[in-house]
Amino acid sequence: MKLISVIVPCYNEEEVLHATHERLSQVLNALRDYRYELIYVNDGSRDRTLPMLRQIASADSRVKLLSFSRNFGHQIAITAGLDYCSGDAAVVIDADLQDPPHLIADMVSAWEQGSDVVYGKRRDREGETFFKLFTARLFYRFINRLADVDIPLDTGDFRLMNRKALDAFLKLRERHRFVRGMVAWVGFKQTALEYDREARFAGTTKYPFRKMMRLAFDAIMGFSNVPLRLASILGFITSFLAFAGILYALYAKLFTNETVAGWTLLMIAILFIGGITLVVLGIIGEYIGRIYSEIKQRPLYLIQEQIGFTQKEQE
Ligand code: UDP
Ligand code: MG
Repeated sequence: MKLISVIVPCYNEEEVLHATHERLSQVLNALRDYRYELIYVNDGSRDRTLPMLRQIASADSRVKLLSFSRNFGHQIAITAGLDYCSGDAAVVIDADLQDPPHLIADMVSAWEQGSDVVYGKRRDREGETFFKLFTARLFYRFINRLADVDIPLDTGDFRLMNRKALDAFLKLRERHRFVRGMVAWVGFKQTALEYDREARFAGTTKYPFRKMMRLAFDAIMGFSNVPLRLASILGFITSFLAFAGILYALYAKLFTNETVAGWTLLMIAILFIGGITLVVLGIIGEYIGRIYSEIKQRPLYLIQEQIGFTQKEQE
């Protein structure tokens, strides 16, 4: 029987844990043709989450627990769960029941029909503030434009990955992780499953504005070189303007008599140095961009299919 791993990152979720565990167990037990393991990742919670998880784990051998030494963040918690899971497919789901557990069954059937990644796409979000909805909407469209890969709109981290996609994903060991972008980067056959996102079952959001901003930054910096390009673009614009300014300074000197002594040379020096500085910064920026992409150590490519080769293990 195939094994399904379900990964649940938890940060201060004492109010919802029991309800979540009950719902998840129900849904997973109903999948009769599969075995399952339920991996809770305690991300340095400061409430009773950890003792509660210990208790849940001791009552059921299918429940596993990873507990961090401190709060490392949602994206790292997901990654740890995926690292440690041994399923033929892995599902990541939030602890707060905002992602409906019954959809796991649909994800599993989409997987059986040949999808490598099945991601939940939010059609509607209930119980969120206008501010969160607005910024999220804006953000997903923004990152979609900037990023080098197609990051699907309005998807979170609720998704199923089969072993092939998961192993590929786990090769990406960058530190600043934007998991949904990384999964998009991996490719393979990805299908969307639309759903209405419910309100949090209990408790409050563990993503305050500060963490949201950090995630947005990780997304932009991790998947786009546009901010770095900005220095080059600005450099060329400034140089062009400086050149025009220099021509004007010479013209004013030679053909009008409105210039103060020394002004021309001063103008030329300032404009020249300003333009050169920005261009050089842009060049350095390009190199830093390259260093950054080398240092991420992502695989050069991932092969989906090969014909006519004796099977070679991908490194
Ligand atoms: N979470 C986590 N570490 C964090 C913040 C959040 O593991 O530092 C978990 C949290 O317990 C939940 C999931 O990530 O299972 C999503 O967080 P939340 O529901 O608070 O985010 P929102 O739905 O409000 O965006
Ligand atoms: Mg939530």
